[in-house]
Amino acid sequence: MAEIRDMTAKQPPQRRSDERYDPERIEKKWSARWQADPALYAAEGHTSKRKKYYVLEMLPYPSGVLHMGHVRNYSIGDALARYMWMRGYNVLHPMGWDAFGLPAENAAIKNNTHPRQWTLGNIVRMKAQMQRLGFAYDWSREITTCLPDYYRWNQWFFLKLYEKGLAYRKKSKVNWCPECATVLANEQVVDGCCWRHEETKVEQRELEQWFVRTSQYADELLAGLDQLKGWPEKVRTMQRNWIGRSEGAMVDFALEGPAGAAGSKITVFTTRIDTIFGATSVQLAPEHPLVADLTAGDPDLRGKVEELVREQARAREEGDVGAIEKHGVFTGRYAINPFNQEKVPIWVANYILMDYGTGAIGSVPAHDERDYEFAQKYGLEIRVVILPRRVGEPPPADQEEKPLLPYTHMDSLLINSGEYNGLANNEAIKRMTADAEQRGFGKATVTYRLKDWGISRQRYWGTPIPMLYCEKCGVVPVPESQLPVLLPDNVDITLPGGSPLSHVPEFVNATCPHCGGRARRETDTMDTFVDSSWYFYRYTNARLNDRPLDTGTVDYWFPIDQYIGGVEHAILHLIYSRFWTKFMRDLGIIHNDEPVLRLFTQGMVIKDGAKMSKNKGNVVSPDEMVAQFGADSTRMYSLFATSPDRELDWQEAGVEGVHRFLSRAYRFVMRNARSTRRGAGAASTNLSPKARALQRKLHQTIKRVTDDFQGRWHFNTSVSAVMELLNELYGAEEDIVAGKVPAEVLADAQRNLVLLLAPFAPFLASELWEALGEKDNLLRHPWPEYDPALAKEEETVYPVQINGKLRSHVSVPAGSPEELVKERALADERVRAAIDGKEMVKVIFVAGKLVNIVVR
Ligand SMILES: [Zn+2]
Ligand SMILES: [Zn+2]
Repeated sequence: MAEIRDMTAKQPPQRRSDERYDPERIEKKWSARWQADPALYAAEGHTSKRKKYYVLEMLPYPSGVLHMGHVRNYSIGDALARYMWMRGYNVLHPMGWDAFGLPAENAAIKNNTHPRQWTLGNIVRMKAQMQRLGFAYDWSREITTCLPDYYRWNQWFFLKLYEKGLAYRKKSKVNWCPECATVLANEQVVDGCCWRHEETKVEQRELEQWFVRTSQYADELLAGLDQLKGWPEKVRTMQRNWIGRSEGAMVDFALEGPAGAAGSKITVFTTRIDTIFGATSVQLAPEHPLVADLTAGDPDLRGKVEELVREQARAREEGDVGAIEKHGVFTGRYAINPFNQEKVPIWVANYILMDYGTGAIGSVPAHDERDYEFAQKYGLEIRVVILPRRVGEPPPADQEEKPLLPYTHMDSLLINSGEYNGLANNEAIKRMTADAEQRGFGKATVTYRLKDWGISRQRYWGTPIPMLYCEKCGVVPVPESQLPVLLPDNVDITLPGGSPLSHVPEFVNATCPHCGGRARRETDTMDTFVDSSWYFYRYTNARLNDRPLDTGTVDYWFPIDQYIGGVEHAILHLIYSRFWTKFMRDLGIIHNDEPVLRLFTQGMVIKDGAKMSKNKGNVVSPDEMVAQFGADSTRMYSLFATSPDRELDWQEAGVEGVHRFLSRAYRFVMRNARSTRRGAGAASTNLSPKARALQRKLHQTIKRVTDDFQGRWHFNTSVSAVMELLNELYGAEEDIVAGKVPAEVLADAQRNLVLLLAPFAPFLASELWEALGEKDNLLRHPWPEYDPALAKEEETVYPVQINGKLRSHVSVPAGSPEELVKERALADERVRAAIDGKEMVKVIFVAGKLVNIVVR
């Protein structure tokens, strides 16, 4: 478009013929410009005087193609990043690739390619998709976790964990396919069978594996949740449950009869020691070490126990052990309750877990839901030891004092409990724990559901664990100076038997750094959750090559101001990365206690009521949407269809609707750009009603969009507000053409319309900004401010009469309907006082003039 320099004020703006909105042309033009200017989205260094804002979306796994869930996640983050840039912040908005993991190996086997080639090829494709969508990432900080310049720091951290006693080896169960003769990941176990051998049952084998001692920080991980006020409550609750802290006591029950190899006592864990006189059996987890002893010499019993093991394993695979149908078997043996010397039967039950507490409980059916259910099923004694009555409260006179079972409440008192009868629960817990400790058969304890993190994977495509096994010296860490331990390229990942790396002699055979003798290298690789536990620190200085991070830079950027991703990462990723932060802090290389200040979990994108999946044939491809409607429409629809925290049911008609709106915006601004180029300055007073309405709508819209960004992120209402503003502009267009809307007012409205669109439809906004004759970069242009006085609705003041006599005035927004005016009039205090106790006959309403209430 030609520059218009000849601007004679008397000539009305010419109407241009409508130009067609062509997103393809506009978006390619701006994509090319943005990519040619890498400084555009680059954050300033940590010495910047501006306030920092770190906005981050969870980094994707490079599967090869972006799906709509990604588009939604990144559109939210990108809108926020652009808004914060316009608010003048120093914004850090990076992106990278969670590039190790099993799918690369599976794809490599299937397509006969190398996992590296497959992964890096996918990254190129996905990055191009992201650029086509116009996401404002600082690509100079891109990280790819499968490259040595990143994973060497995983190894460095592992050595530090080992040094601090936070990494250790222990035997642990793995899934093993006897046909493949290899370890399977959980995802490779399908209905208890191997994914490649549908007929072959997967076995559990014990292997030495590396663990990270996350439990060391269990208390702090739990306590820290209280401070994370910017996290969704549901995520904090999920983490609390996952950490699962219980205060309780360990109590030793002596084993009656011969002791086994596992000892002569059973230590039970209980959170309700006050009910222990009601324990009518002891229940062991099927994998409790004593079970082997108790079932020795009884193949029938052994077989029954093995069935319980299998039932529990199946329930674990299905992910809900809590919902297991309870089964158990009596061992024929007894244990002695140390509090009352009573003999109780020992059972093995499938709902008792070896990895919770001690793997053994004293079962109290009267006062525990699960024990009650079990006792009913197997006819075990149910003995009440707690009454639903407070200490000092008299017993009920007219009815039998018996609680509804199972009775699990606290704030009650003890019966049938020997010397503890009559005590309140809380008091009894204290006294009985102290007594057990003093008499040497128990102690107070805290247990966690949170387990240490098993990080060994018997797979190829991951970070090699930097450890050696020397024939003489045993386990020896690789010296820091020898990092990185490179993942070798020439590996046959289809070979059966053990970790793929174990088949590579030049990798396995090493020299011991202590004695110079022969050593074997660890052939397991790290869980990919290690990579994502600290990646966001690396972004702050992604090219640093002598340290994982620079402390001063991290101090400036952390904690992350806003993290955005799927709720499916609420537990593992977000607990591991919180753990990693505390570990790094205790190493002294960072100072923050938590990585993320505010967390947002966006809703899923579905289609036709179901999750998008290839099997269902309901996958919507972002590429197709972009080709058909443009990136702006696709992004904006993903924000507009519903509020970002809710599930989005993808409707193509909706994208089309957004496209129509953007077309209208484009055509309007293109037609009227000329008058805006001319107009400038403050808004006039004495505006025509149309012009004033436009001005008011503009300031109201700025307020709504700004409030949404600052508050609940209901971008759907932000976008509808911008749509209403455009309608107002169209409604005033006749007046505009007739010159009845002052140029300043129109200019103000058009410029701000474009600024408000910028976070949602950055391509179109940039094009229109340029058409309005603006030279500065839209991304750095200040976000518009609203004037509360101009945003205020015009008001009409109604005199309120009672029986024709003026009693009060009420003011309502101009044009309010009759019902609202009457309602306000009747709610007025002076009116209410005047009609109090009288009978209302009717209310007369004269629009714009008065309200008259007739009473008698
Ligand atoms: Zn197999
Ligand atoms: Zn050695």
